[in-house]
Amino acid sequence: MEGKEVRCPKCGSPSVTLQNKGYDVGTGCCGWALLGPIGMLCGMLNAYDKHKECMSCGHRWK
Ligand SMILES: [Zn+2]
Repeated sequence: MEGKEVRCPKCGSPSVTLQNKGYDVGTGCCGWALLGPIGMLCGMLNAYDKHKECMSCGHRWK
């Protein structure tokens, strides 16, 4: 069980949460304005950018 425990690489805190960024509306809209459909696609790709976040120091990493 302890082998799966994730700790913050910065402060060593075990209080880590997995964040799913969700669809980045800002990137999608901005991309759409600049590149049209291709830019919109970039925004959708960012939606799958999951990362871990430390609840102690706020450090984020993949
Ligand atoms: Zn931390």
